[in-house]
Amino acid sequence: MSEGTSRLSGFHKLTPAERAERLARLAGLGPEAAAHYAAAAGDQLALADRLVENAVSTLNVPLGIATNLLIDGREILVPMATEESSVIAAVGNAAKRCRASGGFTTATSGNEMIAQIQQLGMPDPAQVRLKVLERRSDIKAVCDAADPVLLELGGGFRDLEIRVLETAEGPMVITHLIVDTRDAMGANAVNTMAEAVAPRLAEWTGARTHLRILSNLADRRLVRARAVWPLDEIGGAGVRDGILSAYRFAEADPYRAATHNKGIMNGVTAVVLATGNDTRAVEAGAHAYAARDGRYRSLSRWETDADGNLAGALEMPLAVGLVGGATRLHPTAQQNLQVLGVETAAGLARIIGAVGLAQNFAALRALATTGIQKGHMALHAQNVALLAGALGEEVDALAAALVQAGEVRQDVAERLLRELRARKG
Ligand code: NAD
Repeated sequence: MSEGTSRLSGFHKLTPAERAERLARLAGLGPEAAAHYAAAAGDQLALADRLVENAVSTLNVPLGIATNLLIDGREILVPMATEESSVIAAVGNAAKRCRASGGFTTATSGNEMIAQIQQLGMPDPAQVRLKVLERRSDIKAVCDAADPVLLELGGGFRDLEIRVLETAEGPMVITHLIVDTRDAMGANAVNTMAEAVAPRLAEWTGARTHLRILSNLADRRLVRARAVWPLDEIGGAGVRDGILSAYRFAEADPYRAATHNKGIMNGVTAVVLATGNDTRAVEAGAHAYAARDGRYRSLSRWETDADGNLAGALEMPLAVGLVGGATRLHPTAQQNLQVLGVETAAGLARIIGAVGLAQNFAALRALATTGIQKGHMALHAQNVALLAGALGEEVDALAAALVQAGEVRQDVAERLLRELRARKG
């Protein structure tokens, strides 16, 4: 901001267009900045204003389609929203290479989410724990009354789990409400239940309740995906062994595992976003699950099958929904769900699991063979060409020249663009 204060009284009461104008003025950007915000949002401005506070526009992320996926015997086209080059191509390529062996096989462990209720400041945590357990049927009744729609759909309270935590301020009793949230991601659903149950717990046990919130470590909502890549599809036993060594590196080293899992999330997050689901919730769950035994590890497992082919498996929490949040409100998310042809949250999770595994295969194969930069650079070169100011046909020509020069950098791009234009006259 060029001048003034960030204390903008009444900003939230303005329309998005008025906010954009005020913002442009405050930032010293001129009227074209407000026009840019309006044009970028197109017909999504009213929706943006409903979804978030102080909306001025939308940030459009490219939406592409991953092809070749054969998942549980079904041919699936997968919309992916990502700004990162190579991600969508990598999924399509990995999926093509495992079609001969049947594509991906997937499953889920269920639709159960966990809400946590914290109780603290008690001298007798073991007693409090038992008093909560004795109220199981009362707790079920409170939870189910909080969401009759979910109950009607066959969801609702499933179980209770009580843990006593030793903490820096003494013992705490943590009650887990385990709730089947069916086709909803379920954060609001279980948070509402936790807030309804908490005062009753205080009443029944005499112990003070504090936080009431879901856990994003959705380890009762796991997706599992597996596939086999035949040796002749991956470039032979040497490539297989190279992939296995890369995987073992990730298993042994959290520095490597973080990047290995980031590759999986390149695929996962892109489909989560394309369907209007909560990317942060899925990412938090994935990384917490990767560290569940006390050390951060790979979310996938790689091995050789009885025929010597490369077998991969991915297991991770995946709390996604078809209702609730932005999914139902966003027309593009709705359309993407139609393209996917899914009718349940579990069906969506299964596709996302397959995409995560495909992405992991592609990254491992690239790393174990030519290195990640070769494929990346061809697409990255296009971005660098655009940044250097290339227009129309110049973009491809400049990108090719950058790759050929082996130096995909903006300063080189600017120089080559000047030379290209000089040659053209
Ligand atoms: P929601 O409350 O909007 O929708 C869920 C409700 O829809 C259910 O409670 C049920 O009453 C109803 N429903 C209708 N048809 C259903 C069906 N077929 N299956 C299940 N329920 C059906 O949304 P939600 O899924 O409870 O919460 C998701 C939202 O919460 C996301 O926007 C997320 O970003 C947000 N959130 C996340 C966190 C977190 O992850 N830590 C915390 C708070 C909020």
